[in-house]
Amino acid sequence: MWIPNVEHFKVLTDELILQHSEKLKVLYHSVACDVEVKEGRVAAVIIANKDGLTRVEAKQVIDCTGDGDIAHWAGCPTISSKPLMPLTMHFRIGNVIPTPETKPAAKKVLIEAHKEGRLVNFYGPGLIFAFAKDECYVHATRVPADATNAADFTRAEIQGRKDAWTIFNE
Ligand SMILES: Cc1cc2nc3c(=O)[nH]c(=O)nc-3n(C[C@H](O)[C@H](O)[C@H](O)COP(=O)(O)OP(=O)(O)OC[C@H]3O[C@@H](n4cnc5c(N)ncnc54)[C@H](O)[C@@H]3O)c2cc1C
Repeated sequence: MWIPNVEHFKVLTDELILQHSEKLKVLYHSVACDVEVKEGRVAAVIIANKDGLTRVEAKQVIDCTGDGDIAHWAGCPTISSKPLMPLTMHFRIGNVIPTPETKPAAKKVLIEAHKEGRLVNFYGPGLIFAFAKDECYVHATRVPADATNAADFTRAEIQGRKDAWTIFNE
């Protein structure tokens, strides 16, 4: 089923979760922050949320953190590419009517901003009208950073937001 509205998608997802509430307990706004390893397997995961720290035991733990946080903390060997792929701060702009000139015009101003030092890095831009006919999803910022390092991740978010604002204003 095609769901063009992100908020509607969230409501449908909530409903799906509630339909399976006998077997499935979901905690939003919770992060895994530590693991306990016993006899070579992850025996428990420590999660942090508004309840504080909670220890969750499981027969089987599936790490879906994207960065492999749980596997990494459990001591599994991991590799990361060198150089790391830069990070992208996406953003969306409303009330944009796309024309064939939109993308080349955007690219031109971003090249100028880069040459004049207002924008250190950028990509594309990728301009996608996927969420609404008049809403432009912009995939254009590029921040070199290591998102598995808390301080670097924060620095990248601040830089990404600044670059997104620069691109929006260009
Ligand atoms: C800008 C960009 C463009 C991309 N374009 C493409 C593309 O065109 N085609 C393509 O195939 N792929 C693309 N990718 C890659 C693709 O999005 C990822 O490979 C994919 O989303 C990874 O899925 P995942 O479920 O492993 O992780 P994610 O989608 O990253 O999901 C991980 C989830 O875990 C949560 N989480 C993280 N750490 C913790 C923690 N400690 N505790 C609890 N929760 C945690 C996160 O909040 C997140 O919700 C792109 C990625 C980016 C960033």
